[in-house]
Formats: sequence, structure tokens, C-alpha cells
Amino acid sequence: MRPITYSRATDAASAVATVSADPTSDFLAGGTTEVDLLRQNVLTPRRLVDINDLPLTGIEALPDGGLRIGALARMSEVAASPFVRERFPVISQALELGASAQLRHMASMGGNLLQRVRCSYFRDAESPCNKREPGTGCSAIEGFSRGHAVLGTSEHCIATHPSDVAVAFMALDARVHTQSPGGERVYPIDDFYLLPGDSPHREHPLEHGELITAIEVPAMPVARHSLYLKVRDRESYEFALASVAAALSIVDGTIADVRLALGGVATKPWRAMHAEDFLIGASAQRDNFAHAARVELAVARPTPMNAFKIELAQRTLVRALETLTGNGSPA
Ligand SMILES: Cc1cc2nc3c(=O)[nH]c(=O)nc-3n(C[C@H](O)[C@H](O)[C@H](O)COP(=O)(O)OP(=O)(O)OC[C@H]3O[C@@H](n4cnc5c(N)ncnc54)[C@H](O)[C@@H]3O)c2cc1C
Ligand code: SF4
Repeated sequence: MRPITYSRATDAASAVATVSADPTSDFLAGGTTEVDLLRQNVLTPRRLVDINDLPLTGIEALPDGGLRIGALARMSEVAASPFVRERFPVISQALELGASAQLRHMASMGGNLLQRVRCSYFRDAESPCNKREPGTGCSAIEGFSRGHAVLGTSEHCIATHPSDVAVAFMALDARVHTQSPGGERVYPIDDFYLLPGDSPHREHPLEHGELITAIEVPAMPVARHSLYLKVRDRESYEFALASVAAALSIVDGTIADVRLALGGVATKPWRAMHAEDFLIGASAQRDNFAHAARVELAVARPTPMNAFKIELAQRTLVRALETLTGNGSPA
């Protein structure tokens, strides 16, 4: 038994001050990641600072049509928001396809962005794992890697980033707002997630004690016509083997705007820039969708166990675009 000091923060500044002053402390939001990993001895904080009383629960339509989501808004509340459903359906769908109803009621948006990887070696405190214990090696590369990443991997870590809604945020150029000991900061979502490289234990640029306060999504007309398609081993309560967040606008048969991001196949939510570049100005046809998908996955580096994900991701991307053009079914 390890003793843990528990306290409830009443304002953001004191929460940040308390956690940043103690390297053995963590924030506690819904606890659906933190408490799981604490029970498995993967995380070993000596102090938990509960942030659930902080006034960070808003889901606001911004005057210019953008969206601001407080870090403590629950996944289920954001998914159900009429504004989100109408203007940013991809966000709402990504949330509803994640976890279970009970978990979505508990889990916060800030906690979702910082959830930890599902690699079984990371979650087994006895296995070598560079992410949990730098320098010990990666058990997955020569081990069981069916669910692992094919994009953005390194020789030190191939774990897949698990969040669904972060994939939607990646497609929509969201920005993460924080309060650090030195003041407020804003991170474009692509900079918020780091590739594993030779330091897989560093997953984001936040310093210890830096609190996520909100996520902002800019106004974006194309986002009204968006979807999240998730492929997994079973229909609910399961992480993605491959997923696509897509938004598409077509004028006279030609793609005028497109936003694409992949989940379940990469070490961070993966903006499919190569596919987007190919598609802009192209005609909205299956052949072009398939070519764009091949271009994006051309740099994939699979293990013998997860090579199937390359074709799966390509097919998922094509299906998402076909569905948005009215030529495919979402299932
Ligand atoms: C069985 C199961 C299935 C799941 N399936 C899915 C799925 O399909 N898709 C999906 O996307 N997710 C899934 N999840 C993950 C779930 O969405 C996350 O566990 C949840 O969103 C985390 O939010 P929380 O509020 O519970 O965070 P916590 O567990 O409280 O915190 C998570 C981490 O973030 C830190 N933290 C929390 N809030 C802040 C903040 N505001 N600022 C700074 N740090 C903070 C904590 O210190 C901790 O390190 C699943 C989880 C479980 C247990
Ligand atoms: S893939 Fe990453 S998280 Fe999994 S064992 Fe290797 S280093 Fe650890």
C-alpha cells in the first residue's frame, strides 16, 4: 500500500501551484485513466489534486462560429451539445463512438486528450517499456503488436495514440489552452502531440503542473459536412483499429475543401496532409479517394502482425469520403 494525499482545488492557480511544486503529484479529473493506472502500479503519484470543482465545464459557441470546450466538460455533454452536433458532427460522433456510456459521463475532455496508450506492455509494470521506464526497451516491437501503429513510429516505441476525439480535433486545427506556472499558453493541436522519436516518455510539451483549461475549434464551414468513421474488433467499448475524421466540401463535382485525420494507426492523431493535398481541386471520385489513401499510407512501417492496418486505413479513408459524397454507407 502506498499512501496518497488527496485534496480538492478550488481555483486553477492553486491547482497549478500545488502540482507544479511536487513532482510526485498529478491532477485528477474523471479518474478513468488515472485511477486505472494507479491500481496497476503504472502511475505512482503520492498526491492527487482533484480539479473537478474548477469552473472549466462550459461548452460555448464563439461569436465568430468557433467552439470553446472547457477541459472539465464531460465527453457525453459535449457529444450531446446541439451546437456541436450541427456545426461539428465529427466531434460529436468521435465522442459517441468512444468508451461506454458510463465512462463518457465520467471522463473529461482534458483527461481524454491526456489519456495514456493502451499498449499492454506499457500497462504491465513488469514488462520493459521505453515509455513507462526510459531506456528499458520496447517489448512490442518483437512482441504482440496487432493493435500498434504503422505511422509515426520509431525504433523506441510503436504505441498507437488511443483518443478518438483528438483525431477529430486534429482534422479541425483545434488549439489547446493551458495555464502553466508561468502563465497562459496555447498549443496548436499538431504541436500538442509529440512523435515518440528517441524519447517516447514525452508525449506532449506540457510541463509538470500545467493545466489544460480549454480546447478551441476555429469556425470552419466545411466542418458542418463531416464525420468520424471507426473500425474496431467489436461494435462498442473498443478502441480503433483504424479511424478517419473527415470533412468535405464539393463545388461542381470538384473538391473545394477537405480535412482528414487518421486514428488507430499512428503514434499521434495523424493529419493526412498528403491525402488532402492530392484531393484539393480533384474530382470527387472513388479512384481519387483511393489514390489519396495510398499516398498517405506510403510511408507506413508495419510489423509482421499489423501490416493489415495499411489496407484497413486506406479502405476506411475511402469509405469515409464516399459516405460524405453520398456514395457509401457509414457502417
Ligand atoms: C475501458 C475503457 C475504454 C475506453 N475507450 C475509449 C475509446 O474508445 N476512445 C477514447 O477516446 N477513449 C477511450 N477511453 C479513455 C477515456 O476516454 C479516458 O480515460 C478519459 O477521457 C480520461 O478522462 P478523465 O477525466 O477520466 O481523466 P483522468 O483519468 O482524471 O486523467 C487522465 C490524465 O490526464 C491528466 N489530466 C486530467 N485533466 C487534466 C487537465 N485539465 N489538465 C492537465 N492534466 C489533466 C491526469 O493527471 C491524468 O494524467 C476508454 C477508457 C476506458 C477505461
Ligand atoms: S510500444 Fe511504446 S508503450 Fe508499448 S512497449 Fe513499446 S515503448 Fe512501451
